[in-house]
Amino acid sequence: MKMLTPDIVYGNVYDIRPEDVRSWGVDAIVVDIDGTLARKNQPDPPEKTTAWLHAIKESGISVMALSNNRSFKRVSRFCRDLGIEYIHFAGKPFKKAFLTAQKILGMSCDKIAVIGDQIFTDVLGGNRMGMKTVFVGTMDKGLIVNIRLFFERPFIKPKN
Ligand SMILES: [Mg+2]
Repeated sequence: MKMLTPDIVYGNVYDIRPEDVRSWGVDAIVVDIDGTLARKNQPDPPEKTTAWLHAIKESGISVMALSNNRSFKRVSRFCRDLGIEYIHFAGKPFKKAFLTAQKILGMSCDKIAVIGDQIFTDVLGGNRMGMKTVFVGTMDKGLIVNIRLFFERPFIKPKN
């Protein structure tokens, strides 16, 4: 059960301040896209997301996107304007894409935080890697999301 519990929980991604990221003792974040930085059906990053990422990068924190979305077109278009590296069809919670991200970032796992809106992909994957895990409330809505949240809810509390 520990593997499914995030280290930190936020209501949404915008609540995470650059100084918070620093206080976790990490130098990089690996961030999910769908539901975390935008709704799944939004092709371009919302202005608020662009501003948020800009502030994070300005503070010297490295950023990479890791998306399970199979569409290269969706992920590349979304990340192009943000100016961040990305991996699409990442297969989280499996380790492969996290290892690639780690290689690209050139950092040890304890210097990387995983941020995402899903327990069984983002949080589980990050915990398996020994990375800091940060759960954020999802931007997505609808029946599928509600069903998912029903199963996730027991784990949406920070580790003590
Ligand atoms: Mg997501």
